[in-house]
Amino acid sequence: MRPTGNLHLGSYFGALKNFVRLQEQAKCYFFVADYHLLTTHPNPANLHQNVKTILAQYIACGLDPDKATIYIQSQVPQVVELYMFLNMNAYLGELERVSSFKDKVRQNPQNVNAGLLTYPTLMAADILLHKADAVPVGKDQEQHLEMTRTFASRFNRMYSVDYFTEPVAYNFGNELVKVPGLDGSGKMSKSVGEAATLYLVDSPEVIRKKIMKAKTDAGPQEKNSPKTPEIENLFSLLKLVSSEDIVRQFEDLYADCTIRYGDLKKQLAQDMETFIAPIRERIKQVEADDDYLSKVARQGCEKAMESASKTIREVREIIGFRPF
Ligand code: ADP
Repeated sequence: MRPTGNLHLGSYFGALKNFVRLQEQAKCYFFVADYHLLTTHPNPANLHQNVKTILAQYIACGLDPDKATIYIQSQVPQVVELYMFLNMNAYLGELERVSSFKDKVRQNPQNVNAGLLTYPTLMAADILLHKADAVPVGKDQEQHLEMTRTFASRFNRMYSVDYFTEPVAYNFGNELVKVPGLDGSGKMSKSVGEAATLYLVDSPEVIRKKIMKAKTDAGPQEKNSPKTPEIENLFSLLKLVSSEDIVRQFEDLYADCTIRYGDLKKQLAQDMETFIAPIRERIKQVEADDDYLSKVARQGCEKAMESASKTIREVREIIGFRPF
């Protein structure tokens, strides 16, 4: 994940929750994507602090440096070399067609840099560097995974090898997750605005305020009428943090048109706080322990470099860079 500040509920349910589960079953590599952040020209003074925040929040959410390799992207130089190799076989047309690129161009027409265009090749380098076969991501990343498969198979074809496996987006056999924002539109993310995004560090008061302010409508007028996006989103969030009984109770109230959205939001705020509180506490503890964080980063970097340098050695050999 890019170190853009605090983690929100979308990155937790879309990615981190699965990271934590996957580390029990497979050899995993997780990293803080600080090179990816450079497309937005971060302030040098904030960059380091933001990397530390994400590292601490990864660990507070349950990533275990003894089970998985957790590292900081910019500390593993091999990623840049693979990125460069992949860029040589990535074509302008296909990069320009990526929807996240088109969105960024629309949002920031004054900052269409080459890093933004080649974001998918950097992401492919991150994945292929460890020859990953599965990547636990949210639904928004499906297209980037598709690009990674394209680059992997193109490399194999170009050099007549069967070197890279084509990685798939992975969610334990379930549909990829999309956590909505509190404003009824699209996915929860920083760009939809602070008021519609719940962070894992939000205080009980902030959680309550954000949820109580979420837009609702006049309520269903006819039995079993379809929900508006705003209401659908509140139910989606309820399903993430509340018990099945609670969800069923509100579904029934909605179905027979007796639902009171104030009650639904109060319940959601309460269950959200119960969910977030222990994570928020752990974040505070881990963030305060600089020695531990630097040990985690150092060890992660060593482990990541082992796998990365093996891949780069082999890729160089395949391409034809051989020792004299
Ligand atoms: P980045 O820009 O580094 O990808 P994000 O926070 O946008 O950072 O995404 C990090 C991970 O969290 C990605 O795997 C993404 O799929 C997932 N994610 C982020 N927001 C959501 C969301 N609202 N719903 C589902 N998954 C999400």
